[in-house]
Amino acid sequence: MEMTFSIIKPDGVRRNLVGSILGMMESAGLRIVTTKMIHMSRREAEQFYAVHKERPFFGELVEFMCSGPVVVSALEAPNAVVKYRELMGATDPKKADKGTIRAVHALSIGENTVHGSDSKENAAIELGFFFSGTELVNRAG
Ligand code: ATP
Ligand code: MG
Repeated sequence: MEMTFSIIKPDGVRRNLVGSILGMMESAGLRIVTTKMIHMSRREAEQFYAVHKERPFFGELVEFMCSGPVVVSALEAPNAVVKYRELMGATDPKKADKGTIRAVHALSIGENTVHGSDSKENAAIELGFFFSGTELVNRAG
């Protein structure tokens, strides 16, 4: 079993897509271990996306991620990291495979509705950033 970390970004929450997106995760076999709605501060968004701080879109990304509430979740499945990346689809929704969350819901490369960890190592770091161990209440087994 493996865990990954997901964010339903502000554009998803703003458009009342939380239930649909959590439903797509569950239908794909990802177990919701825990979930909560938060409103990130600018500092938290800067810290969370620190790997992108030299990229030209960093300011825009941070601004967007703290523009409204988001839903953060821990998801569990065999191969959860890859499984959730596949369910999300490509960063640019125009390039995302049919039926993926981004193909169905994303508005643009910036407002692309969801985040998912890109490796097991980053999943552990990102889960630790938003959740304490005692919040991971719905693990299988
Ligand atoms: P995420 O990390 O959010 O799951 P990702 O791993 O598919 O997405 P990254 O390359 O890590 O993509 O980029 C992080 C986020 O930065 C993207 O989800 C997107 O919102 C934003 N981003 C990436 N490239 C661009 C761009 N060219 N212009 C604007 N925003 C961008
Ligand atoms: Mg990424």
